[in-house]
Amino acid sequence: MRIIFSLISLLSFCITTALAHGDNRHFANKQDVQVKTTKVNGNVYMLQGRGGNVGALVGMEGILIVDDDYKAVGEKLAAALKELGSATPRYIFNTHWHADHAEGNEFFGGSSTIVAHTNVRKRISQVNTLFGNQIPPAPVVAWPVVTYTESMSIYINGEEVRAVHYPKGHTDGDTVVFFVKSNVVHLGDHFFAGRFPFVDLDNGGSVQGLINNISALMKQIPADAKLIPGHGPVSTIDDLRKYHQTLSETARIVQDAMKKRKSLEDIKKTGFPEKYKEWGTGFIKPDAWIETIYKSYSIK
Ligand SMILES: [Zn+2]
Repeated sequence: MRIIFSLISLLSFCITTALAHGDNRHFANKQDVQVKTTKVNGNVYMLQGRGGNVGALVGMEGILIVDDDYKAVGEKLAAALKELGSATPRYIFNTHWHADHAEGNEFFGGSSTIVAHTNVRKRISQVNTLFGNQIPPAPVVAWPVVTYTESMSIYINGEEVRAVHYPKGHTDGDTVVFFVKSNVVHLGDHFFAGRFPFVDLDNGGSVQGLINNISALMKQIPADAKLIPGHGPVSTIDDLRKYHQTLSETARIVQDAMKKRKSLEDIKKTGFPEKYKEWGTGFIKPDAWIETIYKSYSIK
């Protein structure tokens, strides 16, 4: 019985990790994944493997990274970091608990100091539900060892790396990381560049919360900063503004239909105006975005 239970949880874990808004085409041949390194600004780089974007601050005092992709990408990510100075980051910030951003903790956790919001440690160390599947706790080595509830800074390589929590957005434990001197901001999954976002309603996320947080961020981020989104290419504040506008407008469309007592099925059938077509070509298709908005604004 226990074996069957373990097999079921392993299977659902695999399926879920594959689906966790990463690219599941690579799941069968994950060994083929390549990590691409892009210089962003100052001493900050972006590394792209199979999951969410990884930010890296490099210098004489060591490497600090923001997010660490899937565990399976660990060796490739370490090799790409070695090219930048060291295969072993001194510090790792997790923007949130999803496997495509934090499962690499299992690879790096023994040698790097993992820092995250208290809710990230909580979720990584407990059973969670995602896409209707039960996700078992990660091994202890993967748990963040330094936590905060609002914000914290790490001073390294002549840079202030400031981590700020934004409540109830993509999840209940999201952090945005500001590389103050290099003028780069890593937004985690608060920002899906040019695409409808995944909002994890089962784990404290909220569409209105996400929109409010992006509003606040647009005021806090310098106009000439370079932005690392959770998914997609390096972006600008203008890209973030367009994203915010799209989220607000599409949420409004669904809310208006809800006020007219339209059913979820009818709203999906009507869909969004043509101008939002490109936004629905990523991981979250228009129907999924409509359903997320509908459910989020139905939560009392
Ligand atoms: Zn995520």
